[in-house]
Amino acid sequence: MQVCRTIGEIREFTNKARVAGKTVGLVPTMGYFHEGHLNLMREAKKKCDVVVVSLYVNPLQFGPKEDLGEYPRDFDRDCAMARSVGADAVFAPGNDEMYPAGYSSFVEVTGITGKLCGSSRPGHFRGVTTVVAKLFNIVRPDQAFFGQKDAQQAMVVEKMVRDLNMGLEIVTLPIVREADGLAMSSRNVYLDEEQRQTAPVLYHSLCAFRDAVADGERNVPKLRRGIEEMISSTPGAKVDYVEILSVPDLELLDTLNGKCIAALAVRFGKTRLIDNMVVEV
Ligand code: AMP
Repeated sequence: MQVCRTIGEIREFTNKARVAGKTVGLVPTMGYFHEGHLNLMREAKKKCDVVVVSLYVNPLQFGPKEDLGEYPRDFDRDCAMARSVGADAVFAPGNDEMYPAGYSSFVEVTGITGKLCGSSRPGHFRGVTTVVAKLFNIVRPDQAFFGQKDAQQAMVVEKMVRDLNMGLEIVTLPIVREADGLAMSSRNVYLDEEQRQTAPVLYHSLCAFRDAVADGERNVPKLRRGIEEMISSTPGAKVDYVEILSVPDLELLDTLNGKCIAALAVRFGKTRLIDNMVVEV
C-alpha cells in the first residue's frame, strides 16, 4: 500500500492505474478508522480494481467552536487497518497541500444544505463539498464510497455530482453499528463510561419510530415527538435536532409519505452524535 502526502504523488499513482485500464475507487475519510470505514473500503475493493483512501481532517468543515483540534488521530494504526482490507493507497495531505496560501475557491450546494446539520453547523457542507470536489479532481475516481451514517452528506455529494456533471458514481453503504446499536463513529471515543452506556438511546428511539410506522402511524409531528421525548428523558442527552423529512429533497412533512428519513443530532456533554433511519411507506 502506497502512502502519498502530495497531490503529485497520488496523481501519479492513479494515472498509472488508469493507463493500465484499471478502475479507481475513492473512500474519503477523516481517519481514526472503525468498522464503518473498513466496510466502505472492503466494498470499494469489491467494485473497483484500485482503492484510494483519503485521510484528511478538513478544517474547512469545522466551525470555530467545534472539535477540529481534539479530533482523534492515529495515522499508523489507520494505515495498518487500511492495508489489512486491501486499500492500495492512502492519500494523506497536509493543510498547505490542500489549501495553500491565497486559496479562494469553494463549492456550494444550496437548498438541502440548509436543513439538519446544515442549519446547526453553518458552513459545514460548504467545507465538505469543497474538499470532496477537490478530492474528486485529484483522484478522478470512477466510484466514491460514502456511509449512510452521514445521510445528508451523501445526499449533498450526490447532488453536487449530478448538478456539476462530475461523471462518477456515488455509492452509499448502510450504517455499521456497535452490538448495542450505537452507530460507530470516531467521536464515540469522547464519551465517558456513563455517556457510552446511555448513547444507544439514539438507535432505540429510531427503532421505536420504525416500529410505530410499521404499526400504521403516519402523523409526522407525533412521530417526531416520540423520538424527541425518548431522548430528552435520558439523563445527559441534549437534543440538537430531531427531524423527519422527505428523501431526497429533505422537505418538511405533516403526513409520512413515500421515502422519509428520521435524522437526529444529540449532545452528550461536548460530544455531538448523529444517527438516522430511512423508512418507506
Ligand atoms: P468520517 O471519517 O467520519 O468523515 O467518515 C468517513 C466516511 O465513513 C463517511 O462517508 C461516513 O459516512 C462513513 N462512516 C462513518 N461512520 C460510519 C458508520 N458507522 N457506518 C457507515 N459509514 C460510516
